Amino acid sequence: AAEKDKMNAVAKIKVVVRKRPLNKKESVKNEEDIIDTHSNCLTVHETKVKVDLTAYVEKHEFVFDAVLDEEVSNDEVYRETVEPVVPLIFQRIKATCFAYGQTGSGKTYTMKPLPLKASRDILRLMHHTYRNQGFQLFVSFFEIYGGKLYDLLSERKGSATRSTGTTGANEESSRSHAILQLAIKKSAEGNQSKPPRLVGKLSFIDLAGSERGADTTDNDKQTRLEGAEINKSLLALKECIRALDNDQGHIPFRGSKLTEVLRDSFMGNSRTVMISCISPSSGSCEHTLNTLRYADRVK
Ligand code: ADP
Ligand code: MG
Repeated sequence: AAEKDKMNAVAKIKVVVRKRPLNKKESVKNEEDIIDTHSNCLTVHETKVKVDLTAYVEKHEFVFDAVLDEEVSNDEVYRETVEPVVPLIFQRIKATCFAYGQTGSGKTYTMKPLPLKASRDILRLMHHTYRNQGFQLFVSFFEIYGGKLYDLLSERKGSATRSTGTTGANEESSRSHAILQLAIKKSAEGNQSKPPRLVGKLSFIDLAGSERGADTTDNDKQTRLEGAEINKSLLALKECIRALDNDQGHIPFRGSKLTEVLRDSFMGNSRTVMISCISPSSGSCEHTLNTLRYADRVK
């Protein structure tokens, strides 16, 4: 009963916003700049759940489960987002953590440390709470690019397998979704010959740059196609999360490769954490407004 209470205490869908600090380029004022991009266009309220965005004089207000401002460390981000769902995956729950936002907003900075911290806690649970119960931890890492899936851990077959997820180069990674999954499996009792069965799963998704979804009018055909694909997957993702929240029977997984791949993570008892990454620079206020609106719709 205590386990069940703990499970129910973790919200089915949690939406947090992470504001990164202004970088050097953004904080130095250039005399020739037409738009004053060095100023901060985003205010985090004392309550740490509300943000104000000033975009071209107009003010927009949003409320989320939590707003993590620039003083918040990666450790604290972990504690706020992923740590509470880690014990749940031993209880047959699938949890997924997304980072959404424009390129340069801090998605990779936010996501990169999370799987390692989660693995450490999972292994700790395996060696203490669930000692000698036959649990095993599996890792997979792949990316979706142009609607296709690429395994980043399989033996590399020349240049056919891309590696944006491992190099982290922004130009490339901004056009692909990187997915890292930690799966807990268990061997059947007294039967070591059978393959272990899935118990729970924790997925980390570093989404493609949200601004890429607007590349649909680019002169380059390849860029246009990629933009359309990204736009489709981000819309499909939003629809799936909303359907989950409303406990609708039908969840539109088929809308994109991304949601198809995540299908089994959304089925049954699941938890979703959305981290919306935003830059505070007024030069990005339009993208930031789009990100906050997306997060607001998911909530
Ligand atoms: P994205 O993956 O969304 O394109 P990155 O994670 O690569 O963005 O972040 C862009 C830059 O900003 C990187 O140089 C990164 O180190 C820096 N950065 C992002 N978030 C933070 C933060 N919270 N604190 C300090 N630096 C950050
Ligand atoms: Mg990135």
